[in-house]
Amino acid sequence: MMPRMNGYEVCLHLKNDNELKSIPIIFITALTQLEEITKAFAVGGVDYITKPIRKEELWARVSTHLTIAKQKKELTQGKEKIEELYAEFLGTQGALKEANFKLKGLASTDPLTSLYNRRHFFEVARNDSKLAQENQKSATLIMIDIDFFKTYNDHYGQQKGDKCLKEVAICLKKIFMKSSDHLARYGGEEFIAMLVNTDLQQSEHLISTLKNAIEALAVPHEKSGIADHLTLSIGAVTTTPNLENSLQQAIKKADEALYRAKESGRNRWVIISA
Ligand code: GH3
Ligand code: MG
Ligand code: MG
Repeated sequence: MMPRMNGYEVCLHLKNDNELKSIPIIFITALTQLEEITKAFAVGGVDYITKPIRKEELWARVSTHLTIAKQKKELTQGKEKIEELYAEFLGTQGALKEANFKLKGLASTDPLTSLYNRRHFFEVARNDSKLAQENQKSATLIMIDIDFFKTYNDHYGQQKGDKCLKEVAICLKKIFMKSSDHLARYGGEEFIAMLVNTDLQQSEHLISTLKNAIEALAVPHEKSGIADHLTLSIGAVTTTPNLENSLQQAIKKADEALYRAKESGRNRWVIISA
C-alpha cells in the first residue's frame, strides 16, 4: 500500500529485470487476507511478514532466504561447470577418436604408395583365406615384382624410382579394385594381392590386363635387361576349394611361381592351381 506503485507492481518490475530477478523478495504487509498473501507469492515473492515488524523474526527470515538464494546460485554454477566439463569431455573424446582413426590409417598404410602395408595385408588376408576355405571358394594370391628395379634406381635416381612405384601402385589399384580384393605393398618393389572368390580364369584375365596396363604406361627403362620400358614379373596361385591351403602356403607357392617367371625371362606371369 505505497503511493504511486503498490508492492505487487514493484515486485513484478524487479522480477522482470534480468539482473535483479534472482534477489529474493519478502513482502512486509499490514494485509492479512489469504487472497493478498497468495498474490504476493504469485508475483514472485518468497515470503511475507505481517506488520508490526518484529526485528528478530525479520532477521531470521532474511537470513533463511539469503541462505537459500546462495545455495541456489551455487547449484546453478555447479550445473554450469558440469555442463562445461561435459562439453570439454565430448570435445576430447572426438579429438581422441579422430587421432585414433588417423593412427590406425598410418599403421596400416604404406606412406609412399598409399597402398596397405604388409602388416595390414596379413591381418585381413589371413581371415579371408580361412573364410574362403570354409565356404569352399577359390581365391587367388598374386605376387608382383618390378623387373630390374635396382638398375632403374641406379640409372634414374631414387626420386624417379619412387615416382615409378607410385605409378605402378595406381595401376594396380585400378585393376584390383573390388572391395573384396586385398592389395598391398609387400616391400621394396614388390606388391601382393589376394582376390577372394576368384577362379583361375578370372585371375588370368586380371593379370593379363595388368600386364597390358604396365605396357601402356611405357615408363622408359634404358637399363632393363629385357625391354626399353618398365616391366613386371608376376607369380600367382589359385587355390582349389577342396584342398587344404593356408595363406602361408599360398604365398610360398605364388613366390615359387614368381621365381619361375623371373627365371624364364621376366616380363611375364606364371599362374598355378593348387
Ligand atoms: P629383379 O628383376 O630380379 O627383380 O631385379 P631387381 O633389381 O628389381 O631386384 P633387386 O631385389 O635386386 O632390387 C630391388 C631394388 O628396388 C633395390 C632398390 O634399389 C629398389 N627399391 C626398393 N624399395 C624402394 C623404394 O622405396 N624406393 C625406390 N626408389 N627404390 C626402391
Ligand atoms: Mg624383388
Ligand atoms: Mg625386382
